[in-house]
Amino acid sequence: MNRISRRDFVKSTVLCGIGATAVSCTTQVREAQQKSTRYIAAYDTESPACLAACRKIVEVHKRFEMPATFFILGKTLDANPAEYRELLDHPLFEVATHTYSHRMLRDNDFCGAAIPLDERRKEIFEGKEAVERVFERPCIGLRPGCGFDNALKGEPAVLELIHEAGIRYVSSLLWGPDYSLPAHLTEPFNYKEDGYPDLWELPGHGWHENLLKDHNGWGPRRLTLWPSPFPEALPKAFCKTPKDEFEVNKVFLDRAWETNKPFVSLIWHPWSLDKFDPDMKMLELTFAHVKRLGLKPCTYAQLYDHVSKA
Ligand SMILES: [Zn+2]
Repeated sequence: MNRISRRDFVKSTVLCGIGATAVSCTTQVREAQQKSTRYIAAYDTESPACLAACRKIVEVHKRFEMPATFFILGKTLDANPAEYRELLDHPLFEVATHTYSHRMLRDNDFCGAAIPLDERRKEIFEGKEAVERVFERPCIGLRPGCGFDNALKGEPAVLELIHEAGIRYVSSLLWGPDYSLPAHLTEPFNYKEDGYPDLWELPGHGWHENLLKDHNGWGPRRLTLWPSPFPEALPKAFCKTPKDEFEVNKVFLDRAWETNKPFVSLIWHPWSLDKFDPDMKMLELTFAHVKRLGLKPCTYAQLYDHVSKA
């Protein structure tokens, strides 16, 4: 019989429970060791309230030694450049762009029509420039405001601008089919079919957490798909507590781990997290679960490095 280390034993009791047989436990522990699902904490940082929220978020990340990617609007950064530099210039963190001012790079059913092409150029180039000017390091990733249900497939003009700007990955697939939520656990892909094999799409998953709490004041909307491919991921009502939100997160983390997905990353917004949960309890519950499962924390830039070299 294989030797089992103390660390593996602790893990086995988490994975299989005290009562499970030694053989099934050993099998599950071995499976866990073979899995390499990554976890990315990511924040769409996009309004004045995000600065105070980020102070609390950064504290939790340092305590858990948990990496993160902050997609930040150029105009949010330009309003408080020194403060953001002090907060986010840390080896745990990647800073990427969320465009300059959150205007639409393609039509979105909920957020509105695309702006003219010359304006889209500004959103992309000036957003990236702001990150590079403030942090004095390359910005290789872009998450467009709101995201889309078909990523940037079939948008050659936008892909050309992004390529020209020197962006290496976009995180634009943030909805399920037909602008439903949640966004599925879609794996990374490149834009080879659109003529850009070196440009990668690294999607976001799950809910836009602000919508789980009605923070946009939309009320009930036609957001979910029927029949649902993932009914466990549909809470019965708006989240009321950090624990409610964690229970939704857990469905995606567990599914990603069980199905050995390359990564999982939920769509979070500092302003909304702080408004709902000023003590950041949801982050603590979620990061503890990430560690319990053995997911491998990283940033989007690190995921890009991994997939583009594979
Ligand atoms: Zn946004």
